Amino acid sequence: MTGMTNAMTVDVEDYFQVQAFANCVDRSEWDSFPRRVEANTNRILDLFAAARVKATFFTLGWVARRHPAVVRRIVADGHELASHGWDHTRADKQDPEAFRADVRRTRMVLEDTGGTPIGGYRAATFSIGAGNLWVFPILRQEGYVYSSSINPIRHDLYGMPGAPRVPFRPRADGVLEIPMTTVRWLGRNWPCSGGGYFRLLPAVLYRMGLTRVNRHDRRPGVFFFHPWEIDPGQPRIRGAGLKSRVRHYTNLSGMQADLERLSRDFRWDRMDRVYAPLLTGGAAAAAAVRP
Ligand SMILES: [Zn+2]
Repeated sequence: MTGMTNAMTVDVEDYFQVQAFANCVDRSEWDSFPRRVEANTNRILDLFAAARVKATFFTLGWVARRHPAVVRRIVADGHELASHGWDHTRADKQDPEAFRADVRRTRMVLEDTGGTPIGGYRAATFSIGAGNLWVFPILRQEGYVYSSSINPIRHDLYGMPGAPRVPFRPRADGVLEIPMTTVRWLGRNWPCSGGGYFRLLPAVLYRMGLTRVNRHDRRPGVFFFHPWEIDPGQPRIRGAGLKSRVRHYTNLSGMQADLERLSRDFRWDRMDRVYAPLLTGGAAAAAAVRP
């Protein structure tokens, strides 16, 4: 325990909606899959309640439309409800009009369902980089306050290796970006924000990385995972390649226990509270966001 409060986040989507399976599952087939996102999210809410952890739930509009009860429980349990876009379309595959319609529709459905204002946004598959920084003013115009969508690493599906490792404004007229956490080591940024790496690598590496970010950088870290990651019994997707299967299915059975330990051993809160000083504006906030 380092004393620093970190940001716990969950990307609320189902097992058949992930980027790793986008080649073998078409959106038109989604309604034919048995959905497990509500039951899995309820298990996460139970775990957080027991551990007294508050978190931010970046939720697909598609999921909110079909599972309003779990969206209402996220809010009732004291967590932050936020937007993960409508149907997990990558932001870098949308033009500005399509992106605007997507984030507007998602925010409206989440606000109607949850009865709470939506300020946070996370793009599907961290699909914001140097080529589409125009999303930031659109997010602001559409009522959002921050984004957590850039991952300053090299990765085959996403990443913006030259991006700042700390909160920054990619466009002066846009929302604040809170990038995914990395550890600076040997002149490189190494991922330190959960996701597949958390299941694929020994848990001790993540804990060392987060401790270094808290102690050495004196910064909070951002952790993220998905409801399907605590669900070893989920139906297997046919036709998926080896890399996708390794990424998706490794150590699902150990994830719940790993999360319980992580909840105990570090301090966690909702993103809008961890970064509140940067989100309220003013000179102090402007100085603090300078990378
Ligand atoms: Zn996602």
